[in-house]
Amino acid sequence: MTDDTPAASSPFARLPSVERLLSHPAVAPMLAEHGRQATTAAIRDLLAERRQAIGAGACDPTTLTEPALIAQLNARLAEQARPCLRPVHNLTGTVLHTNLGRAPLPDEAIAALITAARHPCALEYDLESGGRGDRDDVVESLLRELTGAEAATLVNNNAAAVFLLLNTLASRKEVLVSRGELVEIGGAFRVPDIMSRAGAKLREVGTTNRTHLRDFEDAIGPRTALLMKVHTSNYAIQGFTTSVPEAELAALAHRHDRPFVVDLGSGTLVDLARYGLPHEPTPQESIAAGADLVTFSGDKLLGGPQAGLLVGRADLIRRLKKNPLKRALRVGKLTLAGLEAVLRLYRDPDRLDERLATLRLLTRPESDIRAQAERLLPHVRRALAGRPLEVDTEPALSQIGSGSLPVDRLPSHSLVIRPRTKRGGGLNRLEADLRALPTPVIGRLADGALRLDLRCLPVEAEPDFIRQLQSLTTA
Ligand SMILES: *Cc1c(COP(=O)(O)O)cnc(C)c1O
Repeated sequence: MTDDTPAASSPFARLPSVERLLSHPAVAPMLAEHGRQATTAAIRDLLAERRQAIGAGACDPTTLTEPALIAQLNARLAEQARPCLRPVHNLTGTVLHTNLGRAPLPDEAIAALITAARHPCALEYDLESGGRGDRDDVVESLLRELTGAEAATLVNNNAAAVFLLLNTLASRKEVLVSRGELVEIGGAFRVPDIMSRAGAKLREVGTTNRTHLRDFEDAIGPRTALLMKVHTSNYAIQGFTTSVPEAELAALAHRHDRPFVVDLGSGTLVDLARYGLPHEPTPQESIAAGADLVTFSGDKLLGGPQAGLLVGRADLIRRLKKNPLKRALRVGKLTLAGLEAVLRLYRDPDRLDERLATLRLLTRPESDIRAQAERLLPHVRRALAGRPLEVDTEPALSQIGSGSLPVDRLPSHSLVIRPRTKRGGGLNRLEADLRALPTPVIGRLADGALRLDLRCLPVEAEPDFIRQLQSLTTA
């Protein structure tokens, strides 16, 4: 500003107009990227804030210059354009972390999702007859082949699968469940609550630690709709315990002409022991033991997109599909595309641990993770040099997560960051700074240390992780 009139020296008058900023050459690239509407709105907001600050006598004059305003505008537009659903580095040590989106999908599923998203597809269209089809057909034959069940259907998630099952088969009737299996899964899935919302009446059987076949036998009556087993996925009852094996429950249910159903929670379609992991119950085992219906998640150990799968007797699956709630809980084409691709991988178990992303993470050798920790250590030390913290590598134990195999741990390796002095701080600050990185790094604060378990940092993601560390130094 060259003229020196009194008006020009008033802070209000020093603010440029909306028009002036919009036509400023430095704003042209912002207009090109974010569009006129968003850019104009951001300029208006910015100027209004400055005017308010001036009015309140709380304005730093250096924030009123054109370059300062333009820099602010750029930062604000970039912030607004950043997607909310951002990728993060999951270094929590929990592989299937519900709050971080559970299973990462394999490349085959991602490719299938993109194709289904881009093109029309035969979702409910029978290409042989030219007539209307059923969307469940996309995955039903694969599920039948892989689980040995007669029929299959699917809904939005496993909670919905359990809900649909209970509402269809047990409305206003009793469902017998062992007291030791009245589980609460994170995020408000509680067996008793789902049961009452589905219109079924929970009849608890046995005790918390011991339930016998005769407890079920005594409880069966004219109001009994079905017998149910819920996999105690996120805890283990240990010590003096008894539960009734599936085969015995199935036989008892069938003697009384009632269905026996299993909520498996997680559930994979292979014996994980063949990859050196602890065994997790499979739907095919429940079916072989006589279960009439089994429900399980698509995005837990199965390693696919979020979905709730139901497999079992054809007549029961037909009844589920006739319930109008099935329509309300159905999955979309993207889910079906991703799930079909994942199920196909299970047809070749020999290569599953290379191709299924979840299994690749779960079977990552400890020696690999330790070597990675040692490679990263000097980079992290350098980035934290200005802070009152020290970094080292330590053995760790990862969890599978999402209620799978709750007591089993996988040997892993971590970067562990501690305050340099006993009463020192700086850990919470670092934890927040890591969360604020372009690809946020999510670790775990425990026992006075910040632990970064590297199991879920694939080698391909390492360069991004290292590059970001620089902004920690400048922060
Ligand atoms: C995880 C789980 C559920 C809920 O499954 P979602 O796919 O998260 O809806 C239900 N029952 C059991 C036993 C589980 O482990």
